[in-house]
Amino acid sequence: MDSLADKDHRYLWHPFTQMQDWMAEKPVIIEKGHGVRLWDTEGREYLDANASIWTNIHGHNHPQINAAICAQLEKVAHTSFLGLSNVPAIELAEKLVRIAPSGLSRVFYSDNGSTSLEVALKMALHYWIHRGQPQRRRFVAFADAYHGDTVGAVSLGGIDLFHATYRPLLFDVEHVADAAGLKTLLEKHGSEVAAVAIEPLIQGAAGMKVWPRGLMAETRRLCDEHGALLIADEVMTGFGRTGTMFACEQEQVTPDFLCLAKGLSGGYLPLAATLTTERVFDAFLGDYAERKTFFHGHSFTGNPLGCMAGLASLEIFEQERTLEKLQPKIALLAAELAKFQTLKPVVATRQCGFIGAVEVGPYPWEAKAGIRVCQRAREMGVLTRPVGNVIVIMPPLCVTEDELRQICEVLRRAIAAALS
Ligand SMILES: *Cc1c(COP(=O)(O)O)cnc(C)c1O
Repeated sequence: MDSLADKDHRYLWHPFTQMQDWMAEKPVIIEKGHGVRLWDTEGREYLDANASIWTNIHGHNHPQINAAICAQLEKVAHTSFLGLSNVPAIELAEKLVRIAPSGLSRVFYSDNGSTSLEVALKMALHYWIHRGQPQRRRFVAFADAYHGDTVGAVSLGGIDLFHATYRPLLFDVEHVADAAGLKTLLEKHGSEVAAVAIEPLIQGAAGMKVWPRGLMAETRRLCDEHGALLIADEVMTGFGRTGTMFACEQEQVTPDFLCLAKGLSGGYLPLAATLTTERVFDAFLGDYAERKTFFHGHSFTGNPLGCMAGLASLEIFEQERTLEKLQPKIALLAAELAKFQTLKPVVATRQCGFIGAVEVGPYPWEAKAGIRVCQRAREMGVLTRPVGNVIVIMPPLCVTEDELRQICEVLRRAIAAALS
């Protein structure tokens, strides 16, 4: 019998992974988890320092989320959302509208962060057609943006390493560097812009780049001035990551589209939502023959298991007072990040709420410095994944202060060991 590792090497193709490197080493095969801890098939224990690629909120194997999913499973696992509704999807939509920035009143479900952006793009374009302004068909995004890996989301993207290859497949998007760039662009082409997309407060895949304070509010103001819609991609920042439930709150912004995924189901199941306003929703109402229908949907739209996980996650936010308990951990993360600054390979540390980043370098990306650090950390029992030369620290929000200290201590040792 071949081992699982052999079969992985033989049958699988992993995302964002150079498979030649992957097949040259033994894979870590995760078998179970509890809280912030994960165990592999060889019984080795790890701390999940990047919340399983920025998704997990309350820890793995949370009894309440498990119970919610199991209870729904006893009823029905999935039914279509095309022409039918289901109980958890309705209840979750009501809760989301209640906690989202005021003015967002409609929930359109999909399966992942990328599709939540695709939905916003298509709704925005279609909205302007309904409103008799079909010339509003341009989209604007920011330099270094990451909005997902489907073709529309890649069009919005601004990271050459990931996105440039696919240029022949993509539609044109104007990329601007900052508020001044956005202002100039909108002054010139504002009447042709359908929407502006932004990752509020911090760009994730760009390397955890924190925006200057006020950029989000300024983007809202410029969109209003020029009549463009605003898409807030909170796929990473949503559900407490930046210290508030949503990052938009910190600058009192209500976007026209709020894209949610990763943490929406507590990080348990693939589920996404695009929230929008009654103004956008109303534009799609009309007689059937008017063809105002939003022709978009996925087989698993509104999946009841995912929605039950999402409901349980929001209940836990209240019961465990997750956001309140997070505040001292945010302060501790700041103190821990400061200790990285004395390490020779470290050129910068960054923080936005409960997202921490340590940049090493300068090393060319081919040197795989970030990857080497994370390999060392893994050997010492801490799992995270770099973005280029940036080591990401974003464990589940339920991490204890001791566990957070331990994660940071291991990462400091890993940087010293891998890069000096
Ligand atoms: C992860 C991410 C996405 C894409 O989400 P997927 O679920 O991986 O498709 C989009 N935007 C941001 C900001 C993200 O961090």
